[in-house]
Amino acid sequence: MSNKYETLKRMDHAHLWHPFTQMQEWMGEDPCIIAEGEGSYLIDVDGNRYLDGVSSLWCNLFGHRRPELDEALKAQTDRIAHSTFLGLSHAPGIELAARLAALVPEGLTRVFYSDSGATAVEVALKLAVQYWQLRGETRRTLFARLEESYHGDTVGAMSVGYSDLFHHFHRDLLFPALAVKPPYAYQREQGLGEAEAMERSVAEARDTVSREKDRLAAFIMEPVMQGAAGMWPQPAGYVKAVRGICADNGVLFIADEVATGFGHTGRMWACEHDGVGPDLMCVGKGITGGYLPLAATFATEEIFSAFLGEYGEFKSFFHGHTYTGNPLGCAVALAGLDVFEKDALMEKVPVKIAWLEDRLRNDVLALPHVREIRQRGFMTGMELVRDKERGERYDPGLRIANQVVLEARRRGVIVRPLGDTLIMLPPLTISDGELETLVTVVRDSIRQVTEAR
Ligand code: PLP
Repeated sequence: MSNKYETLKRMDHAHLWHPFTQMQEWMGEDPCIIAEGEGSYLIDVDGNRYLDGVSSLWCNLFGHRRPELDEALKAQTDRIAHSTFLGLSHAPGIELAARLAALVPEGLTRVFYSDSGATAVEVALKLAVQYWQLRGETRRTLFARLEESYHGDTVGAMSVGYSDLFHHFHRDLLFPALAVKPPYAYQREQGLGEAEAMERSVAEARDTVSREKDRLAAFIMEPVMQGAAGMWPQPAGYVKAVRGICADNGVLFIADEVATGFGHTGRMWACEHDGVGPDLMCVGKGITGGYLPLAATFATEEIFSAFLGEYGEFKSFFHGHTYTGNPLGCAVALAGLDVFEKDALMEKVPVKIAWLEDRLRNDVLALPHVREIRQRGFMTGMELVRDKERGERYDPGLRIANQVVLEARRRGVIVRPLGDTLIMLPPLTISDGELETLVTVVRDSIRQVTEAR
């Protein structure tokens, strides 16, 4: 390791506090310190290259240092880096809103910018509650959600995405939300088949929403795939069923497409699989191709118009962030939308997804300790078990998936663990050869680690 590496490591260990990280453990390890990126690869300070198999936490869509995005960023810095969206506007923000409004599911016409997935969710929750207040339905302050959903780490987002492991210290800060068991939980906990699990979950959603329809502001869900739960997929038709239940009961439907949006499930938006349009939709992560922190909450004209009135009526949405609609982020996002078109990404990605499905089924699922592969598009979870036949788990203390992650890293591939599930979500532009490398290294790393245990 170089002197530069050692110096940086010392400073990291002395001053940093990394997210979702046991720092005691971190401070006893050699961190991987990234210096550069190139296409699907990350390069550390000593020049080692790693295939970015989780697209830098599911946000890098077009690879690192994509020339068009770099150019857009440089060109925007030559004009202005930031100017507030409070009381002023700017061209990249305006143009991006118009481009996105033409791209999102029908009916979503308004764009409210923020700066992360969690803030996009906070905006949706606050819009939903204020909408009902403005309509005179003041009792509607409650939310329904799916069990094990994840919507971010701010207090509102945690309230609708409660996870005992992540959030129990802050439980008393959270507002109550009604949890509906998603189909995959029925499959997993009760051993039901997909169709029956879906029926049970839809029935539960219907009961919950119809029982509490006078108090519910909205139902929020990650459509098609609950990512941070460990990639929990939903059967075809589930999003449409929940959306329909909301519509039948006059409850707003919020789609959190922070993880699923921008092509990750094989369609531009996960909601498209079921042909539904939400009342509110949250996006983040891939919106800038993984370059800058920008997020957006989309709303229907119906919701937007409830906030209109004379200033003195004080119906405005009193919410904003210093960097709301940051011009650099908007300029890069516009360049990203051009790349989608220029590279015909949404035509090419499904071919890669089909190949990946096939290879994972034949090469990885066949391994003796891989219980299940859960995949929707590029969003992939591979669950490891000690005994496949009996479904016996590994001792959690072994952190088996983390061991595979470290082995894969030694072999030049970055993937992430979520419990005993290995997570993969490569950039949309990953080449066929790189995808092959990703699958091969993951397979060999799983084999090596699980055979040694
Ligand atoms: N919503 C979903 C579905 C997510 O997967 C995430 C992050 O993984 C978030 C919201 C939070 O996004 P951020 O980390 O940008 O706040």
